[in-house]
Amino acid sequence: DIAAPVAVALDGADLPAGTGLPRGFGLPDDAFAHDGQITKRAIRAVTLSALAPRPGELLWDIGAGSGSVSVEWCLNGGRAICIEPRADRIANIAANIDRFGLSDRMRAVQGAAPGVFAGLPAPDAIFVGGGADADLIPALPPARLVINAVTLETEALLAALHAERGGRLMRLSIEEAAPLGRMRGWTPARAVTQWSWP
Ligand code: SAH
Repeated sequence: DIAAPVAVALDGADLPAGTGLPRGFGLPDDAFAHDGQITKRAIRAVTLSALAPRPGELLWDIGAGSGSVSVEWCLNGGRAICIEPRADRIANIAANIDRFGLSDRMRAVQGAAPGVFAGLPAPDAIFVGGGADADLIPALPPARLVINAVTLETEALLAALHAERGGRLMRLSIEEAAPLGRMRGWTPARAVTQWSWP
């Protein structure tokens, strides 16, 4: 009987409906303290899927911005180091560590990549959401890699990396319905090119 209830044992299944954080990737942008420079929900969901967090793994989130990618990595069992040069964004990252209760597994390092790498514990995965250029790539330690680009220059770099090393190169174009006069129209977000390896 396909309509019969299925018994599932889940942590928190005895809580009232709607309690707690959703378990999937791609929390709403407004769940985070941010200044507009945030990897948007749909792109973030695909990015986390490519990063593929496993329990206990360490992420370097380079160009962390608000730290939204690190927050979702940590909510899925990982640990993360956010690298971000701007003091105002470090403050947002700190606010998000606090908001999501992640102070035991997520921290922020103020500085620019690759200069700040020395002394950091080796990562299992690296996400580059900002600062990807020809100097950064050879300075990355061995790890699973996901790099997002919105500029032609970075996209050219990712196309070359894909040709050299393989992995997956994708272009993510998202449109969302928004008011257009008295009606609605599709409003495209800037397309993101994503290279992930291996
Ligand atoms: N993924 C982030 C948004 C990243 S925006 C989020 O979801 O919030 C890109 C960020 O890269 C900016 O905050 C910018 O300050 C940072 N950045 C630029 N060059 C950098 C570099 N060389 N090292 C580290 N961060 C850098």
